[in-house]
Amino acid sequence: MELIDGKYSVQGIELASVAQMFGTPVYVYDGNKIVSQLQNLKNAFSENPLKIKFAVKALSNVSIVKLLHQHGAGIDAVSINEAKLALGIGVKNSDINYTPNCVDFSEIEEGVELGLCVNLDNLSMLEKFGKKYGSNYPCGLRLNPHIMAGGNYKISTGHSNSKFGISIYQLPDVMRLINQYKIVVNGLHIHTGSEITETDVFLKMAEILFGIASDFPSLQFIDIGSGFKVAYKEGDHVTNMYDLGLKLGKSFKEFYHRYGKQLELWVEPGKYLVSEAGYLLVNVNVVKPTPSVTFAGVDSGLNHLIRPMMYDAYHEIVNISNPTGSQKIYTVVGTICETDTLGADRKLNEVREGDLLAIKNAGAYGYSMASNYNSRFRPPEVLIWKGQTHLIRKRETLDDLLRNQVVAEI
Ligand SMILES: *Cc1c(COP(=O)(O)O)cnc(C)c1O
Repeated sequence: MELIDGKYSVQGIELASVAQMFGTPVYVYDGNKIVSQLQNLKNAFSENPLKIKFAVKALSNVSIVKLLHQHGAGIDAVSINEAKLALGIGVKNSDINYTPNCVDFSEIEEGVELGLCVNLDNLSMLEKFGKKYGSNYPCGLRLNPHIMAGGNYKISTGHSNSKFGISIYQLPDVMRLINQYKIVVNGLHIHTGSEITETDVFLKMAEILFGIASDFPSLQFIDIGSGFKVAYKEGDHVTNMYDLGLKLGKSFKEFYHRYGKQLELWVEPGKYLVSEAGYLLVNVNVVKPTPSVTFAGVDSGLNHLIRPMMYDAYHEIVNISNPTGSQKIYTVVGTICETDTLGADRKLNEVREGDLLAIKNAGAYGYSMASNYNSRFRPPEVLIWKGQTHLIRKRETLDDLLRNQVVAEI
């Protein structure tokens, strides 16, 4: 968003007018930012035979999936339903990378029936897969490289105690199953977590995959997952995508000369593509000074944006109703009957009841992790694209809360 003539706007549309049109709280997405992030990624990796698979779990609104798909992104689905959402808006099955974790084998079978790229992450499923499909359907392998990477323990997925992936120390077992059932492995995959800033981690992961690739003669792709970090506040370290693209391009070239054929390089960004494009607009219901803190109580909370409470994530907050007001310290909290802090001790332009606050970086893991906790409605989602607002999800109503509930005959 930009501040023009004292008004915060996206693509020339005032955020205050979006709030007026659709009410608050409301999720607003800047389509231009999403498409420009996609383009940045393509530019940064121009040295690589790149395929981008958008991690749908970050923002699973089908209009966003459609926008990204129209601009050349495939899909990374972690559940069969995410894959079905993508298929429903015309994404080709072969463009969907399906990497479920700890699901029942029947959900893997469904992935095969739908013709998805199936990526397996444990030996038990690999054995079942081999028994059922033999060499008739290829699969990728999600490996665990035993690297501790990422912002914190909760979002790191590639360390030795992580539930994700097949340990690289279990490769002998993998080879035994492959030989026994003539399994065709078409891709190797590592996703070590979120918010990884060091380029070296990705290069190290790639080297691990390159190192074992010669045992898998039928590969079509190497998938280095994601975890690309974006800025949540000024001065944040971010993943240097150009540096990564360049270095990876070089080692990838060396690798496929050794391997004997050109493979595709897959990445699966969620946060990188959509985080900064999203804003959660909230209304200040109450300003509540106490002897120690001044609270700004807003019409949202951890039911709509759980990252601050779940991960201690920092989301910048801006008072868009009072851009020039004198600054004071506030703790911004929601309505939920729990400790429900969206931002503690923030310096904001004076907050008055009825002001609109914009919570930034709300595009990734915002709406997609929202709930009905405290029997509250989930907010609407609005996409701004080509200077127009599009309502891409309606606000819920009481009917939505009651749907599927059955009053017992008691
Ligand atoms: C969550 C996830 C991603 C996306 O991670 P970001 O940090 O949002 O980029 C990619 N691949 C897999 C398998 C995931 O589970």
